[in-house]
Amino acid sequence: MRKFEKRQVGVLALQGDYERHQHQLGLLRVKNRLVRLPADLTEIDSLIIPGGESTTMDILLDRFHLREPLTEFGRSHPVYGTCAGMIMVATSIRDNQAGVKPLGLIDIEVVRMGYGRQVHSFEEILPVSLGNGTSSLTATFIRAPRIARTGPDVTVLASYKDHPVLVRRDNVLAGSFHTELDDDTTLLRYFIQEFS
Ligand code: GLN
Repeated sequence: MRKFEKRQVGVLALQGDYERHQHQLGLLRVKNRLVRLPADLTEIDSLIIPGGESTTMDILLDRFHLREPLTEFGRSHPVYGTCAGMIMVATSIRDNQAGVKPLGLIDIEVVRMGYGRQVHSFEEILPVSLGNGTSSLTATFIRAPRIARTGPDVTVLASYKDHPVLVRRDNVLAGSFHTELDDDTTLLRYFIQEFS
């Protein structure tokens, strides 16, 4: 793994709020690259899968021939999935009427829209344990997925009302909520520094 300043972080840019992640990477002065083609994956050290719409992302992953290479990448590199991105890195989706095919990178089961629809969006100050003591994050839940089950090798980093909302397994980080909507880069910095 290259030093912090040398790393190139990819942001999956098929759909969703990838520009906000790119903006935050810019605040941290971390090199970054939008990922749209399999070849882009060879240029990056880690990948963020943003929020957006998992049904659309699912279709575009196949259209852009990214499903296999991205799954392969996620087996050996850091990946951070947020909101729709968390749905994509999960192992299973409960009541999956839309037929989204998750990539299976972290052993969690998720419920899409588990915190309600767009009108039920909310912001919450959440305590999180990110290794160096507990800090807090402003977490925004927008049509957010709920984590219904975590596998034995999954660590819970933050919970909301007794349900895990930020989890980790080895090189994979997944969160129900957004933190990229404002300029608080705490979680992004944690991902870049601690995941290797
Ligand atoms: N509910 C959306 C989905 O299922 C995710 C919402 C989000 O990413 N903000 O894809």
